[in-house]
Amino acid sequence: MENFKNRICPAPTLCYHKNMPLEQPESFLCPYCGEPNSLSVDISGGRIQEFIVDCEICCAPVAVRLTVDGEDVVGVETRRENE
Ligand SMILES: [Zn+2]
Repeated sequence: MENFKNRICPAPTLCYHKNMPLEQPESFLCPYCGEPNSLSVDISGGRIQEFIVDCEICCAPVAVRLTVDGEDVVGVETRRENE
């Protein structure tokens, strides 16, 4: 898995990577309490990203699965961690 942040660009002044937003705000609804949560997505982290976040409202562990296409997050799926 490549990470642009850790990569040294050979031509920084010409590099388009430096203008690429690496973090995008996303939101999802908690599958436990139904409240909206915000999430900062590292789009350089891969096309499919799965991780666990604690709900900001009820602190329950939420399994999040992101689908990234190029520079856009095209899918956010959530489920209860133990389902
Ligand atoms: Zn919640």
